[in-house]
Amino acid sequence: MQANEAINVRMCADFHAHSTASDGTLTPRELVARAAEVGVTHFALTDHDTIAGLEEAAAAAEEHGIRLINGIELSCVWRTQTIHIVGLDFDAASADFQALLSRQEAMRWDRARLIASRLQKAGLPDLLATAEEEAGGGVPGRPHFASAMVREGCVDNLRLAFSRYLGAGKVGDVTRYWPELSAIVEGIVNAGGQAVLAHPKKYRMTATKLRALLADFQAAGGVGLEVLTSGQSSGDTGFLAELCRRNGCLASVGSDFHFPGAAWCELGRLPALPEGLQPIWERFRALNH
Ligand code: MN
Ligand code: MN
Ligand code: MN
Repeated sequence: MQANEAINVRMCADFHAHSTASDGTLTPRELVARAAEVGVTHFALTDHDTIAGLEEAAAAAEEHGIRLINGIELSCVWRTQTIHIVGLDFDAASADFQALLSRQEAMRWDRARLIASRLQKAGLPDLLATAEEEAGGGVPGRPHFASAMVREGCVDNLRLAFSRYLGAGKVGDVTRYWPELSAIVEGIVNAGGQAVLAHPKKYRMTATKLRALLADFQAAGGVGLEVLTSGQSSGDTGFLAELCRRNGCLASVGSDFHFPGAAWCELGRLPALPEGLQPIWERFRALNH
């Protein structure tokens, strides 16, 4: 315990951030350099449904002297709603994890093709190839379709792409293509990792529904709650801290950084964890040897 307290004093943690391996704008190398520059000491790159950036990030972390934890952000479905689970400190080479990843990638491609065909039926050109280019070799998601729409002159800006075609409930909002929450959580746990329920307030659920989600998440083996994320009111943080305590969850911290320039969402700029919470990083194997 004392050792962990000593770690906490020195550490600045950020266990949720994106690179060009998914929908971020910095390469894994640039992202790690920026994290080091702003004083992050313990970091996880958590790209959407891919670990393609981890190797580059690990090399950069070694150069900059910061501790990198294996990370990923996986999409799944719970009661028809898309939920994001951050996986941390897993064994990326394990057969279970590799199987999970290939299923997830196949589903992402199915989803990309479905988004493209739905947009076409709505009167737009076939945007799959352009979105693929925007994704830079990865699987295109909604932000890449939005950029493709702007590039092809279908809409004037990204905001319109979302408000007309890609936002919640619009024609390009394909949610039911993800695995069940329990399958994703079990996959992370089987690979020796910790599953964290990402940005719980972003789902805009009632407290009752969020408690039900958390119960199912914990029943599947999930242990972590992202108590601190960017753009969250102190009231929300207080609510999540209480939820975390009452349910015996471990607390995680993540900016969900995607690109520079948004001051409210900078790397390593979150406040300290509220009192009385057990930090999830005390469980990380990567920090305990
Ligand atoms: Mn994203
Ligand atoms: Mn997310
Ligand atoms: Mn994210």
